[in-house]
Amino acid sequence: MADRINLLDLNRKSMAGFFADLGEKPFRATQILKWIHQAGVTDIDEMSNLSKALRLKLKDTVAIKTPEIKQEQISKDGTRKWLLDVGNGNRVETVYIPEENRGTLCVSSQVGCPLDCKFCSTGKQGFSKNLSVGEIIGQVMMANQQIGWNSNNGRQPVTNVVMMGMGEPMMNFENVVAAMDIMMEDFAYGLSRRRITLSTSGIVPMIDKLKEVSPVSLAISLHAPNDVIRDQIMPINKTYPLNTLLDACRRFTDVKESHNHITFEYVMLKGVNDSEENARELVKRLQGIPSKINLIPFNPFPDSGYLCSSRNAIERFKTVLIDAGLITVTRKTRGDDIDAACGQLAGDVISKAARHRKEISVKGSQGEAA
Ligand code: SAH
Ligand code: SF4
Repeated sequence: MADRINLLDLNRKSMAGFFADLGEKPFRATQILKWIHQAGVTDIDEMSNLSKALRLKLKDTVAIKTPEIKQEQISKDGTRKWLLDVGNGNRVETVYIPEENRGTLCVSSQVGCPLDCKFCSTGKQGFSKNLSVGEIIGQVMMANQQIGWNSNNGRQPVTNVVMMGMGEPMMNFENVVAAMDIMMEDFAYGLSRRRITLSTSGIVPMIDKLKEVSPVSLAISLHAPNDVIRDQIMPINKTYPLNTLLDACRRFTDVKESHNHITFEYVMLKGVNDSEENARELVKRLQGIPSKINLIPFNPFPDSGYLCSSRNAIERFKTVLIDAGLITVTRKTRGDDIDAACGQLAGDVISKAARHRKEISVKGSQGEAA
């Protein structure tokens, strides 16, 4: 059972390959994608347009496995957060943010995160594993099912996806790209590339790769106007410093018309990166890159050691950017009463170090018993 193929792991291309190997016609791939992702069917017996022989064959060889929901929380502002079991005690969180004309799903890509940004609760937890394609797209499937498709217009509640949950999506590149393919696939969720955003802390080679293989929108977690501040709060900056990162951003917006701007995220940390001088420096650094800027009020978590900038400081910072002609918005904090805001997602991360310690202690106690 363990090594069965999970059909949720397959995008259209790999699904077509899978059916070709079975000696089946390519249209089987689109039939199955529709059953799973549009009808939400996970029981092969219910797939009535497949022949009985094919259904039997599939039942012998595949699984359709979605992550199991362990907990749901609903905020007073309507934001919903789910805790999902992804095996071996690991749990990730997914957040749904309803707005008037859209529903945005914040999707996780890893259990924990190896990059250890100092202001991020996920980073503080260490890293356990990459999510599979099925565990990533399973979050979209689960959210649509939980909220229920809109009976007035037949539309799915998830209209936008942001890869801004737990983890660094660029460090789980292949799986994230395949899952985003399924999000855009007409026979699955049919979301336009503009409605899918991948957010990265700046893994430069992967920005170049993304540009080649996927048309989705890109957000960069910039958070600082210079290397001195960025080195302090984002260790990844030592590997890919600001100049290198911003050059990659220039290349990204250069190449294809579909990549016509980049969103820069900037977390507002009191006394760290929030002065008007920092704002002026940021303006200079972003020259020549078609940019939109999201200022994110810092969301606190226990022992973070940081405070959010005052409302006045955020306004002053924003005014400098707007006066320089940069499109700038301050992101509204949603779901803070259920710890669902940016950077607060925690889940349960059974880190490699913790697992190692557990294994040693189990071995130790076995030794004692023997
Ligand atoms: N790893 C990716 C995506 C996940 S984080 C990345 O870093 O881009 C999503 C966004 O939330 C990032 O911009 C991140 O920097 C920001 N963030 C992290 N911790 C935060 C906090 N405590 N308050 C506000 N934003 C935070
Ligand atoms: Fe990882 Fe993003 Fe958090 Fe940094 S901000 S630790 S890259 S999840």
